[in-house]
Amino acid sequence: MTLSPESLERVERLGRLLEESAFTVVLTGAGISTASGIPDFRTPGTGLWEKADPAKVAALDAFREDARGFWRFYSQRLSRLGNVEPNPAHVALACLERGGRIHGLITQNIDRLHSKAGSGEVAEVHGSIDRAECLACGDDYPYDRVMDDLSAGIEVPCCDCGEALKPGVTLFGEDLPPDALRTAVGWARSAELLIVAGSSLRVWPVAGLPEMTLNAGGRLAVLNAEATPYDAEAVLVERSPLEDFLPVVAERLGCSQA
Ligand SMILES: [Zn+2]
Repeated sequence: MTLSPESLERVERLGRLLEESAFTVVLTGAGISTASGIPDFRTPGTGLWEKADPAKVAALDAFREDARGFWRFYSQRLSRLGNVEPNPAHVALACLERGGRIHGLITQNIDRLHSKAGSGEVAEVHGSIDRAECLACGDDYPYDRVMDDLSAGIEVPCCDCGEALKPGVTLFGEDLPPDALRTAVGWARSAELLIVAGSSLRVWPVAGLPEMTLNAGGRLAVLNAEATPYDAEAVLVERSPLEDFLPVVAERLGCSQA
């Protein structure tokens, strides 16, 4: 899709903001992965979540009470998410990081697509499908081992200690991973520029991160299809699709896609 003249003007402005900032952090949400074919489960009528209430099915209580039922549902989700690929928006952010323009990336997404695209400094504040963990002994196992178990017909992937494994994704009713959260808060406070990309900033505590940047004197840019509570405080607001907009920004700053 071709960007409108107004959007191209905002490409220039964001390019300048990136050049002026010595420490830039990006905060991404579901909106960056929709172009990879992952529906935002908060959008009604989309795919796997259509018949299931995520707050019930993807909940810590559900896992503890009925690991078999939990995995019957979650195995479908894992196999779908494992097969998706990064889109040009993920690739552009990875390029900008390699080019020294982005210093940290905070994501609410669990799909590993930033890492797959080549981003290195990533704080996954809702966890990731990349690992599965044992709540009893603390061991963890890679995605492939879990998928191997599931495709071999094992209904509940288990730890070597015998307990059921839990996906490394933050479930409803579960605390966010403390290390990732600490990193995210530190980055938000240090950011001269925080770029929100594909998040409506409605889920706490991630929704509080832009406030930290603003309070510390940093600037905020919002790239999101819908309005967010922070639009009025942002120096730039862009609504066009991230997979159209971000590659042009990367190109403007001379970041090669290779
Ligand atoms: Zn264990």
